[in-house]
Amino acid sequence: MNFEDLNLSKELLRAIEDEGFKSPSEIQEKAIPTLLNGKVDFVGQAQTGTGKTAAFVLPLLSQINFKSNEVQALILAPTRELANQVHEEIRKFGKYLDVRTLTVYGGTSYDKQINGLRKNRPQIVVGTTGRIMDLMKRGVLRLQNTKQLILDEADEMLNMGFLEDVQEILKALPEDRNIWMFSATMPKPIINLVNKEFKDPEILKIEKKTLSNADIEQKYFLIRPKHQMEALCRLLDFETDMYGIVFCKTKREVSEIGSELLTRGYKVDVLHGDLNQSQRDAAMKKFKSGYLSLLICTDVAARGIDVNNLTHVINFGFPQDMESYVHRIGRTGRAGTKGKAYTLIDPFQKGKLRYLERFVKTTLTPAKLPTVPQLKVALVNKELARMANLVESVSEKGDEFKVDETYDVFRESLKDLSKDQILKVLFSQKFRKDLRRYQDLGELDAKDTGDKRGGGKGFSGRGGRDRKRGGRDARGGGRNNRSRSGANRDKKQDDGGSKGSSRGSRRGANSNRKPRPRV
Ligand code: ADP
Ligand code: MG
Repeated sequence: MNFEDLNLSKELLRAIEDEGFKSPSEIQEKAIPTLLNGKVDFVGQAQTGTGKTAAFVLPLLSQINFKSNEVQALILAPTRELANQVHEEIRKFGKYLDVRTLTVYGGTSYDKQINGLRKNRPQIVVGTTGRIMDLMKRGVLRLQNTKQLILDEADEMLNMGFLEDVQEILKALPEDRNIWMFSATMPKPIINLVNKEFKDPEILKIEKKTLSNADIEQKYFLIRPKHQMEALCRLLDFETDMYGIVFCKTKREVSEIGSELLTRGYKVDVLHGDLNQSQRDAAMKKFKSGYLSLLICTDVAARGIDVNNLTHVINFGFPQDMESYVHRIGRTGRAGTKGKAYTLIDPFQKGKLRYLERFVKTTLTPAKLPTVPQLKVALVNKELARMANLVESVSEKGDEFKVDETYDVFRESLKDLSKDQILKVLFSQKFRKDLRRYQDLGELDAKDTGDKRGGGKGFSGRGGRDRKRGGRDARGGGRNNRSRSGANRDKKQDDGGSKGSSRGSRRGANSNRKPRPRV
């Protein structure tokens, strides 16, 4: 099928062509005609990286009345970064249309957003729930004619952290509104909720053998927690041209790993909900532009974020729930490209692995870290690759190759040594520290003690069958034990409402409550 067969306007087709899209993806092919047909509540489920954004943005842009000054559509996303990204997509596809859009989310000034609403009169608003509610309460965001609501990462938006907000926002919309929902995961309880509360929604599931995208090669490494930091470094040292994300469970872990990697000379940045918005924007920008090849983050970047051609996702330990695993690894292997997902697993939690494998309907391949000799060769080779240009210009330019005058002092003092001796001195100076570290720590792979040991099933519950089995992994684990809703809380902060507002405290009181199925 071609995009031309989809009944889209020529303005949209032109923009699609500019994007370089040749043909619609499966979800686009199936969702677009249904959504173009008009008034439906819709759930679209398709694997990560399969073009769900365009599947809703294109039909949305087809139904906007560009002459109107009213907010006709509202798109909700769980994080600021995703809200920005969706907004960008609307701009790209809407570039030949007279569409006005605005993003609103917490952590930035109200003034600009209020001005944007008042002066630009957006027809589409994209944002996170908290700020949207604040703007509604201030009377600047009026939704009485907003007939289209879209929930990107819908299962997350209908999950306990956001559900109440979504319900509140829905109340402001007219009766005859439609809701479109998209996600790669749709746990049963969420589907039940949707079925119960929406008017006969059309549910479109692009069925695949696996829940995770098959373009992602999934491996796991059994590493004891005390060695996981070094194991991570070894993977980074060994792989060439890695452009990836390392996911951690807590903000604290992100900061610790981030600073350790910086100290060890890796070029990385961190992203989590305790950073201010300009830090978050800067990290995202540097990473998306490719200036940084590694981003260390919490699940705040797990959902929806689209960075072109990421080669790797590394999970520093299991995520807290199984859906998160699917979304985390789904940052790679997007739009038909191949990617690698590595998970560092505490051998005591091996039991969780089988549970996860059943959930994603695929097996993770057991892998071993590169050996110490392999690492040493890789280290030297990487350095040689880095020096290649320099070596080449010395050999080409010979005597003309410019070095500082003090080179003479250096040469004079080493003049009695043979070339081999000098090389040994330089080699040892360059590599000793790293080679020693590999050598001293030795091999780090933990023994596989089989599936039966510890860990149990214990993913903390979200939508899946494991909902009630908080299990010891959810509770245990020292400082991480707050983290049952830790990552969620991280995302929740994206709403960034005014601190201490009544909304804040209401939310706090409810944060441990189970989802209330009432939309
Ligand atoms: P999802 O929301 O399903 O995870 P996205 O909408 O973020 O996926 O799209 C993933 C990537 O695929 C984006 O970089 C997007 O530009 C690209 N993409 C989407 N649709 C197509 C298409 N029909 N052809 C080529 N690339 C596409
Ligand atoms: Mg998406």
